[in-house]
Amino acid sequence: MSKNGLLIHYDYCTGCQSCAVACQQEHDFPAGKCGIEVTEYVYEAIRKPVAIDFLPFPTELCDLCINRYQQGEKPACVKHCQAACMSFGSLTELVQQMEITPRSVLFSPR
Ligand code: SF4
Ligand code: SF4
Repeated sequence: MSKNGLLIHYDYCTGCQSCAVACQQEHDFPAGKCGIEVTEYVYEAIRKPVAIDFLPFPTELCDLCINRYQQGEKPACVKHCQAACMSFGSLTELVQQMEITPRSVLFSPR
């Protein structure tokens, strides 16, 4: 069976934090702990003085929502992403998506 992962198209991430809230509620994590962190990057860009990127990245606490997966549901973060910029699936499928999606990150837990 192929290993699963998350593909995040961070070009479309608005930094809304819905993924982090959904993850925290799903796992009942205490304050300060979460399966995903959204970091804001502000930098100089080529055609504009300042650009802002939000990069959501799963942490060591991410278990890919195994309980939801076993019930045939999407991970909580994928379901609640406001920009629909997160995908869950097998690494084989996600690598194929990644080839046509610049500015994306692929995550697979250990
Ligand atoms: S897949 Fe589940 S555990 Fe991992 S970041 Fe998303 S909501 Fe959290
Ligand atoms: S829910 Fe989606 S758009 Fe909002 S911060 Fe998370 S990845 Fe970005």
